[in-house]
Amino acid sequence: MDKRDYYEILEINRNASEAEIKKAYRRLALKCHPDRNPGDEAAEERFKELSEAYAVLSDAQKRATYDQFGHAGLGNGGGFSSGGFGFGGSPFEDIFGDIFGDIFGGGGRRSRGRRGDDLRYNLTISFEEAAFGLETKIQVPRHRPCEACEGSGAKKGTSPRTCPTCRGAGQVRYQQGFFSLTRPCPDCAGEGKVIENPCPECRGAGRVRGKKSISLKIPAGVETGNRLKMSGEGEPGASGAPPGDLYVVITVREHPIFQREAQDVICEIPISFIQAALGSELEVPTLDGKVKLKIPPGTQSGKIMKLTAKGIPVLQGYGRGDQLVVLRVETPTHLTARQKELLEEFAREGGEGIHPLGKGFFDKVKEIFG
Ligand SMILES: [Zn+2]
Ligand SMILES: [Zn+2]
Repeated sequence: MDKRDYYEILEINRNASEAEIKKAYRRLALKCHPDRNPGDEAAEERFKELSEAYAVLSDAQKRATYDQFGHAGLGNGGGFSSGGFGFGGSPFEDIFGDIFGDIFGGGGRRSRGRRGDDLRYNLTISFEEAAFGLETKIQVPRHRPCEACEGSGAKKGTSPRTCPTCRGAGQVRYQQGFFSLTRPCPDCAGEGKVIENPCPECRGAGRVRGKKSISLKIPAGVETGNRLKMSGEGEPGASGAPPGDLYVVITVREHPIFQREAQDVICEIPISFIQAALGSELEVPTLDGKVKLKIPPGTQSGKIMKLTAKGIPVLQGYGRGDQLVVLRVETPTHLTARQKELLEEFAREGGEGIHPLGKGFFDKVKEIFG
């Protein structure tokens, strides 16, 4: 999906001020607001596009990221959040409250239908898929507008009636002491409409259960807990209101030999004490396949060797971490009589280098404890 430039969408230039951005959004969003263009899909698309552009450009931090990296900087499908990055919650409500509240009148919004609910989809991927990204399709259970009643909830040939209790406002006033308060209308549950002949297909709900197949592009470098926001892929809104968003929450499966530490991959490899003492060449597994690693003679257990740029790509950035190979020297067990003999002979041979770290350690013990 080729995304248009956010500045182009809002018809402003790149150094537009905050006020100019808001003004442009207000002007354009009014034109294609779903309430003014019921059933016009192009207008709805355009409205979604506008809202997304505004959500980014009205936020100084997101705008800076966008200026520097473009859409890629914000991830696919509208925004990728990891930590404080990307779209946090839903900017949509804020924009409505802020910009449309005064135009349509606060309470009126309810009667025009609610924005659809956000959905969460848990996606488990492998360690390698997290490292390199993947394209996949998921089947998201969600509602879709009922075809039989075209989403109105009223039986074909009838239509919902304006709620007589609240006269369509969705809210009723009541008195509490000196205060006049409002609450959602109890007769229409705040919808502003009542359905006298419910649609038999959806029993008046205006929507039916279904599944939607959604293509996902997971960027390289994601980790458990990251979430991908798919704008407008949540539940449909009621009576022409915009749909909710879909959040795909990532869980990365554990790998049998690799562990992740930020961008680095850590891998423990056991080596024999002979390989450690004499040096050796190992074949080490990496995310890119096996590579050869030279172990220098006299390697101590716990030594960490670095394979540069064999780690995990930086999410929405450049470069890769390293692979850190932790060498574990194994003490031999189940020795044969001959092997014992050889080791005893080796010990008798003695010398400085037989216990290189031990010497320093026991000198310190002597210093402290006498
Ligand atoms: Zn009502
Ligand atoms: Zn229906």
